[in-house]
This record gives sequence, structure tokens and C-alpha cells, in this order.
Amino acid sequence: MNRKQIAIIGGGIAGLTAAYYLQKEIEEKQLPYQVKLFEASNQVGGKIRTERKNGYVIERGPDSFLIRKESATRLAKEVGLEQDLVKNGTGQSYILVNNKLHKMPSGSFMGIPTEVRPFLFSSIFSVKGKLRAAGDFVLPKGPEATDQSLGKFFRRRFGDELVENLVEPLLSGIYAGDIDDLSLMATFPNFYQLEREHTSLVKGLQKTMPKKKKTKGPKPSMFYTLRNGLQSLVEALEEKINAGVIEKNVAVDHIEKKENSYHLLLGNGEVFKAHSIVLATPFFATQRMLSQYSFVDDFKKMGATSVANVALAFDQTAIKNDIDGTGFVVSRNNDYRITACTWTHKKWPETAAPEGKALLRCYLGRPLDEGVVDLSDEEIVAIAMKDLNKIMNITDQPEFAVITRWKDSMPQYSVGHKERIDLITDEMARHLPGVYLAGSSYRGIGIPDCIDQGEAAVQKVLTYLK
Ligand code: FAD
Repeated sequence: MNRKQIAIIGGGIAGLTAAYYLQKEIEEKQLPYQVKLFEASNQVGGKIRTERKNGYVIERGPDSFLIRKESATRLAKEVGLEQDLVKNGTGQSYILVNNKLHKMPSGSFMGIPTEVRPFLFSSIFSVKGKLRAAGDFVLPKGPEATDQSLGKFFRRRFGDELVENLVEPLLSGIYAGDIDDLSLMATFPNFYQLEREHTSLVKGLQKTMPKKKKTKGPKPSMFYTLRNGLQSLVEALEEKINAGVIEKNVAVDHIEKKENSYHLLLGNGEVFKAHSIVLATPFFATQRMLSQYSFVDDFKKMGATSVANVALAFDQTAIKNDIDGTGFVVSRNNDYRITACTWTHKKWPETAAPEGKALLRCYLGRPLDEGVVDLSDEEIVAIAMKDLNKIMNITDQPEFAVITRWKDSMPQYSVGHKERIDLITDEMARHLPGVYLAGSSYRGIGIPDCIDQGEAAVQKVLTYLK
């Protein structure tokens, strides 16, 4: 039988998800299609990478996924990892403001208060800052807008202090971007809707957030990881995908449209003919593969920031001033170069470190300080140790350090992002039928968002080929 070929380009979580669910549909419905996944590097998983060393589980990229967005949990269960799902420890988290650690006020959602008291008594803000933030209760709605920056939107409602001391450091932890450049509509469109419907964001959140049960126990976990690290999801997927589907060390350099198919020009000089394609690659790779189409030029307007992280392993006795909590984020008005630190052995007490050991994971790299990523390993460890010692008193050098650099790896959803992606998607439907985008450059950066996009691409491919 002459089977139609489906090519998936990129073996990160979006591409692997597409390959897995396509294979499942093809087998269940006995469809006459064949799948091939091309991955440029020598391993699949993309940003998801775990280092297992001396009993530690060290994440080089993401360490968890949101439970609330169900697709990642569903996929983990599908591939047999239900028993390995582990919830995060829910200890106190902190924020570093004016060179001091402060408790994160309880009842905040991405830094926006849902309860007034914890903010009123928080040491993070001055009286003036608190009064300005209370403006949210009385200020009118902003003008209707197609898009605006997160910074502009939140500064208008709450003033600069709440934004800079709380919202910005929390959001930069996710997007590694500049809050005054990041798109509201591509990241948190629900905040815009809340303002339209309730005017005050605080009141809107109070009305719409699920009510917390007033129990005494620990607060509920929001994240899952996997016992042996998130890479085990990648490994399980790879194992389930039939032999011969995944081609590693084969980059796709260019895509040409022919009469009844697409020709993929591969890095090894060969040509692969496909009837439908899922582009699960970062935006700049997608732009290069389709460079003859001017509508992908919009991708040149997109940026990607570089970040690094360093995991430092210690004996717990080396940490003299051990703080009870799971970690902290750093606001910009500090003399710190790290942007956050997770006390990994406390966030993941069951999995991250062996008994009696501590694993601290520091993050570096922010707009205007991306150069830090290019420093040597020794320099990065020294920066992290110097910053940690301002608050923690660590007497020994780490037993070992694992440093990971992610160059140009965090796609930036700047103002207008959603419209740009919608436009490119429309143009692709006209000029390149059967070719679909999926992954973190496009419609959501978190692991569940990438999985959702992989699954959505599967349905589009199947509808197109029918
Ligand atoms: P990628 O993982 O980037 O995969 C793309 C793949 O395409 C790569 O393997 C690449 O080699 C391949 N490729 C590129 N060009 C070509 C080509 N021409 N031909 C063939 N293959 C090609 N998300 C969370 O939900 N929770 C977290 O805790 C979290 N933390 C993070 C921490 C860090 C340090 C980073 C960097 C990201 C984090 N994220 C987190 C985000 C999340 O990990 C990523 O958005 C997601 O894994 C990206 O998946 P992807 O499939 O879209 O792309």
C-alpha cells in the first residue's frame, strides 16, 4: 500500500507528543499513513533534560509542570508513569527585595492579591506602594486594546512598586523576559478579561478563583514532577514510538512545496517527501526552513533570551543558616546577579537529593544581563555562591556543580505576538496546506501548552489528510 508520509520536525516535547498521538491514531484507526520525526541533535527531549548523579535528580531545564493544565499529567499516565508522578512540597517561598528575604504574601496569583490582609501587612511594600496598589479598587477600566505589555497593564492598575517587587520577578521566572515588552494577550489574556468584566483585578480574582477550603493542613501542590526526573517522560515516549520513526542527528534545512507533496531537504543531503508536516521547531529554525515565504519574516521580529542555571550539591551540614522554605525569586532592585534559587531538596523532598544532602539550583540571565551565560563554569559557581552567602552562610564549597546554558532558548512573546502567530498561521493555511506549527515559540511556553499544541497538530494533520 502507498502510505502517505507525515513529517514531524523537532523532537522536543511538542514533536514527541505529535509523533506519539499520531502513531496511536494510525494504529487504532488503521490509517494508511506513516510518521517520521527528524531531530537535529543526538537526543530527543529538547529543553527537557535530567542529570542523574550520585543519587541526585538534577533538572537542567524544566523541573515540573502545572497540574491544573491536564495534558501533561494525562500523557505521563498514558505512557505508564502514573506511579512516578510526585507533587511539589508546599513550604514557604520568599522574595528578595532591598537585599532582604521577605515571605511571599499568601493569597496572591502571579503577584496579584486575592486577599487584602497579607498584602497590607507585607514588608515587601512601602506605605506609599500599598496605597497606590489599592488604586485597583477605584481606578476605571483601561481603554479597549488589541494588546499591550504586561508592565503597562499592571503598572496602571497597581503602580510600579507592586509590579517591580512582586509581579515582575514572578513572571520573569516563567518567561525570562522584560515585563514592559511581554504581551498581555499572549501570556495572561484572562487578566485583560477580568478588567473588562470586573474593573478591579483583585475583586475579579476574588469572584472567579475557586474558593480555598479553610483547612489547617498544608496548601495544595500546584506542580508535578516525575520521580526520576522529567526526562523519564521523554524516555517513555521514545520507547513507545515505533523503531525507525525517530531520526536523530538529522536536521531539516529547507522545505519546498511541490505539486502533491513537500520536499524536505535534510542536513545529510537526502530529500524526504511528505504530505503533511508538523513544525515543532523554535521560530528561528522554522523561519530558516521556510525562508522563501515572506510571511515568515515576522519571526525575525521575535527574540529569544539566554539563561543559565547552576545546581549546587552540598552536605546539609554545610548550610549554616538553613531557611525553612522552598526558594526565592529576586526582584531587580538588589545587588544580586542570580534571578532566583530553588531549594530543590525541599521543593522535591522525595526525589531531588539523597538523605542528608542539599541541592540548591540558582538561575541566571535576565534582559540586560544575558552575558552571564557566557561566563566560565568557575565564574558562574562563584557568582551563585557569593549571592547565596549574602543570606545563607554556606561554609563549604559544593560537592559538585552542574551548569547548564540555554542560549537563545526562551522565545519572547512581545506585544502583538498572538496577532503575529495568527497571521502566520492564516498565511500558512493559504500557501502551505497541511503544514502546522506546534511548540513553545507559538502558543504557550509551558510543557502542558507544548503538549496541547502537539495534540492539536495531530488533529489538524488527520483532518487534512482525510
Ligand atoms: P524544544 O524543547 O526547544 O525542542 C525543539 C527541538 O527541535 C530541539 O530538540 C531541537 O534540537 C530541534 N530542532 C531545531 N531545529 C531543527 C531542525 N532544523 N531540524 C530538526 N530538528 C530541529 N516549562 C514548564 O512547564 N515548567 C518548567 O518548570 C519550565 N522550566 C524551564 C526551565 C528552563 C531552563 C527552560 C529553558 C525552559 C523551561 N520551561 C518550563 C519551558 C519548557 O521546558 C519548554 O517551553 C518546552 O520544553 C519546549 O518544548 P518544544 O518541543 O516546544 O521545543
